Amino acid sequence: MSEKNVLELQQVVRHYNTGDGDKLEVLKDINLTVGRGELVALVAPSGTGKSTLLHVAGLLERPDGGNVLLNGINCNNLNDRKRTLLRRSDVGFVYQFHHLLPEFTAMENVVMPQLIAGISKSEAKRKASELLDKVGLSSRVDHRPAKLSGGEQQRVAIARAIANSPSLLLADEPTGNLDPETADIVFNLFIGLVRDQGLSALIATHNHELAQRMDRMMVLGNGKIN
Ligand code: ADP
Ligand code: MG
Repeated sequence: MSEKNVLELQQVVRHYNTGDGDKLEVLKDINLTVGRGELVALVAPSGTGKSTLLHVAGLLERPDGGNVLLNGINCNNLNDRKRTLLRRSDVGFVYQFHHLLPEFTAMENVVMPQLIAGISKSEAKRKASELLDKVGLSSRVDHRPAKLSGGEQQRVAIARAIANSPSLLLADEPTGNLDPETADIVFNLFIGLVRDQGLSALIATHNHELAQRMDRMMVLGNGKIN
């Protein structure tokens, strides 16, 4: 792909109706880019709009104004079906809570999105086992999420998000639910994997210390990048 920027947000606006007829303007004028191979931190205190911004960037929500470009494609012009297909092929999500499927093993959780993307079962298994090995879970592949620790669950979620080689990885406080020591280990592993695979990532955190380990930091406040 020749596009320099994996993600570009241009004058993005997003508001919520509060029910009493008022509008809560969460994103007022967001302009940002994530370059190919770049690891960018999105920093702000809780309630500022980080999750909203990631949902808009990852095509889960449409903006109320402005443009969202993925690999140079303006996603506003796409219908819902095309947005879903593009999201599946190009975007990987890691949430604060792992959101793994409880009935399935670690291996199956990483295989699943690949099968949905049309990859053969044998290739999906090969990739899943390689990634689970990279996140240090080769001895846990047959465990269901409930039998894994919080840090291990999050490592599976990271492997799952990366399985389809997304051009953009979005992570929403990926270590926010972990104790500081585990968070540190998982975070380093995550960053290492992103760099190792040459991925581009936008990672929301309220932790400045974590943010400083990335290539660039953007601070969100009052609906804008400051
Ligand atoms: P952060 O991730 O930085 O904590 P959020 O993006 O979750 O912030 O939320 C930003 C603001 O938007 C908060 O005030 C939140 O209550 C509000 N908000 C988020 N989602 C909705 C929604 N679906 N409906 C109404 N308000 C929402
Ligand atoms: Mg949030």
